[in-house]
Amino acid sequence: MDFFNKTRNHVAAQGVGVAQGALELAIAYVKKRKAFGTSLAYLQGVQFKLAEMATRIEAARGLYWRAAYSVDKGKPDHALISMAKWFGGETGVYVTNEALQLHGGYGYIAEYDIQRFYRDAKIVEIYEGSKEVEKAVIAAELLKKVF
Ligand SMILES: Cc1cc2nc3c(=O)[nH]c(=O)nc-3n(C[C@H](O)[C@H](O)[C@H](O)COP(=O)(O)OP(=O)(O)OC[C@H]3O[C@@H](n4cnc5c(N)ncnc54)[C@H](O)[C@@H]3O)c2cc1C
Repeated sequence: MDFFNKTRNHVAAQGVGVAQGALELAIAYVKKRKAFGTSLAYLQGVQFKLAEMATRIEAARGLYWRAAYSVDKGKPDHALISMAKWFGGETGVYVTNEALQLHGGYGYIAEYDIQRFYRDAKIVEIYEGSKEVEKAVIAAELLKKVF
């Protein structure tokens, strides 16, 4: 578990990094792509997507920073570390999915990088403890005082 205290933070950071990269690609794409006589970036529905992606990334980043700080202090907070790992993966998958969607059909084909980001994000929900395992750890910590 000492090993996972550190590496789960690394993997959470990986999810956030993939999400950040996907957001940057999506922003560049919607500024460039013209539809309905305007750039996609001017459409409010598109702007709402970007706002939500960016907010989730900041939330996930803050979570793993706090979790990593608990390890640096020598008092690893197991629930926080598992929350960071789970939410880092979920954020990666959510944001890369939305970024791919914003690319339309081009997002799906191999000529555009965004489809690779989607796949790279998915592994964060599986290795170093699957998201289900992380939730089991969180629940065990929460219920410690009950059972
Ligand atoms: C690219 C890649 C790199 C990897 N690198 C490493 C590595 O370096 N070192 C290493 O040791 N392993 C590595 N793995 C293995 C990885 O850690 C496992 O795939 C992961 O832990 C899930 O185990 P599993 O594949 O056996 O799934 P299973 O244990 O068969 O689980 C299948 C599904 O059932 C769910 N599940 C299982 N048990 C429960 C439960 N009790 N309650 C609820 N749901 C449950 C899981 O969450 C999962 O969704 C790697 C895997 C991949 C794909």
